[in-house]
Amino acid sequence: MQQSPHIAALLARRDRLLGPGTPLFYDRPLHLVRGEGVWLWDYEGRQYLDVYNNVPSVGHCHPDVVAALARQAAVLNVHSRYLDETVLDYAEQLLGSFDASLSTATFTCTGSEANDVALQMARAVTGATGIICTDATYHGNTAAVSQLASIFTPVGGYQPHVRRIPAPESYRALGGLAGDALRDAYVARVEEAIASLHHDGFGVAAMLVCPIFANEGLPDVPAGFMQAAVRAVRAAGGLFIADEVQSGFARSGDHLWGYPRTGTVPDIVTLGKPMGNGHPIGAVIARREHLVAYREQFTYFNTFGGNPVSAAVGHEVLRVIEREGLLQNAREVGQYLRDGLRALSGRHAAIGDVRGSGLFIGVELVSDRAQRTPAPRAARAVVNALRDRGVLISRIGVHDNVLKLRPPLVFRREHADRVLAELDAALGELRELA
Ligand code: PMP
Repeated sequence: MQQSPHIAALLARRDRLLGPGTPLFYDRPLHLVRGEGVWLWDYEGRQYLDVYNNVPSVGHCHPDVVAALARQAAVLNVHSRYLDETVLDYAEQLLGSFDASLSTATFTCTGSEANDVALQMARAVTGATGIICTDATYHGNTAAVSQLASIFTPVGGYQPHVRRIPAPESYRALGGLAGDALRDAYVARVEEAIASLHHDGFGVAAMLVCPIFANEGLPDVPAGFMQAAVRAVRAAGGLFIADEVQSGFARSGDHLWGYPRTGTVPDIVTLGKPMGNGHPIGAVIARREHLVAYREQFTYFNTFGGNPVSAAVGHEVLRVIEREGLLQNAREVGQYLRDGLRALSGRHAAIGDVRGSGLFIGVELVSDRAQRTPAPRAARAVVNALRDRGVLISRIGVHDNVLKLRPPLVFRREHADRVLAELDAALGELRELA
């Protein structure tokens, strides 16, 4: 595709300096230079509505978060081996939002690190090494965590201690089943994974899943599946690790965290992405006895994790969510947008399903509604067409055909209206469904 000379030059420079294969969004990559709230601007001053980014979750460059960062950066920033009240104040506030059993916070810089620590902790606690995850996921990029990825193959291939269960869903349900039979069929796959891990001598250290199965395409999970799966894992001696890197910090609109949707309380919760509104901070939230077991075996230390600036930023993000009513906003505007998308499905046969919760929405595109045939090329065309229309989204899912709408939480109804209008137009222009 023809690029402007400016973009072509940047692409060549990036390739030269950062190397080939460094991922980029869109057929026509964007050069963004500024952000504010739900808006982004490119180098030519063109404005884009951000319907994708959950990292700047309280809005791009939120002034209160910027001020908190600058204030603390001007006073003190050191590594984490000193007594520091900033991090304790933040940890207190953060932990107050979890079930009382989840009483300790270990800070990291990324979601990958948080999941890596969680896996180590599970091994330390259980003495087992087997991990259960889904067959359509991504949890991070360390050597250990990349073993769980099904979207990319880890370097050196897969090791034998991971079992992948089918991502639970109701739209293309396992065996065409429904209701309790569907739930039981998915639970049976968890039980098979457990049996296989025991048989091969790994035992079960943990099941690590995202409570809303975000990377799997936000499926409607059969009722009761998660409770039964967690029960089976615990009966086998394993822990339940909830990866809240995507689902956390008010995204789902009904709770600050995604795990209450599972009807269970995890043993470990991992956090990242929206936690610092763009500042790199993550965390492992764990039961005290599990942290103790881990620390008895390994003196975990993270130079940057939980430094005073990160803590000040993270604390301010929590305050902004509260002050600006962003949980309620996610619930209300998310519902409004989903209703609008469902109305659009009456006009566009390509929309097979609209799902999700709060401001995390999946729109499944199909080439045949009755057969539910995935339309990944249509999804790609729509994502690119919307980008050209000034609306930024992406896509996810097992078949790469689910439009992913996940804007900053300061997204309002008028922004939803704009998405609906542009999506209506983009779908109207869609020629090829495949
Ligand atoms: N967990 C989930 C569910 C993710 O989607 C991601 C990143 N996409 C990660 C963990 C890894 O987070 P990070 O990129 O901050 O290491």
